[in-house]
Amino acid sequence: MRIAVLALQGAFIEHEQMLSRLGVEVFEVRQLADWLQPKDGLIIPGGESTTMTKLLYELGLFDPVKQAIEAGLPVFGTCAGLILLSTLGTMAVEVVRNAYGRQLGSFSVEAPFDFGSQSPASCPLPPAPCPLLMTFIRAPYIRRVLSEDVRVLAEVDGRIVAARQGNQLATAFHPELNDDTRVHEYFLDMCRNKMSSTLCG
Ligand code: GLN
Repeated sequence: MRIAVLALQGAFIEHEQMLSRLGVEVFEVRQLADWLQPKDGLIIPGGESTTMTKLLYELGLFDPVKQAIEAGLPVFGTCAGLILLSTLGTMAVEVVRNAYGRQLGSFSVEAPFDFGSQSPASCPLPPAPCPLLMTFIRAPYIRRVLSEDVRVLAEVDGRIVAARQGNQLATAFHPELNDDTRVHEYFLDMCRNKMSSTLCG
């Protein structure tokens, strides 16, 4: 399995380190030539969504990335990456940027995350939401979902902070900043399922 990490700006190295720890091959996407390599999934990291959007356009990556996601390429967006999935128009969510005031710009909280049928071994059976430490940095949140296809995976204080729509996974928080690898493993399972459905189909 090979995962592309969008490396235009922001916190991409932490994702690469986490995927390497999980034994997955990673490569950085800095320009269109990188993007054209074969890949089984894409990570869009945290950073500054306006800068990343501008760079995606300038580098001619905006449309190819959007089309690949629409064609079913599994994608995981964290924080600014969540905002980009909404900007690309691939994820049907309404996102509020910088949702927390300056004082509360960054914080960690433990809250339930719904791993569904992909529950890690450490979770109770039958599958139930598992407590997860979530680290927020000038984070967005999802004000509302715009399609029945979007499944809410986690909420903090009544705000949606993680969701999935088909092969798209998005979190307002940064799982790559903690030692817990479960959200990345959840994403890699999505990639594996896509690979086997493609092989079978
Ligand atoms: N506040 C940033 C934005 O709006 C996101 C912050 C982050 O990715 N940690 O793009």
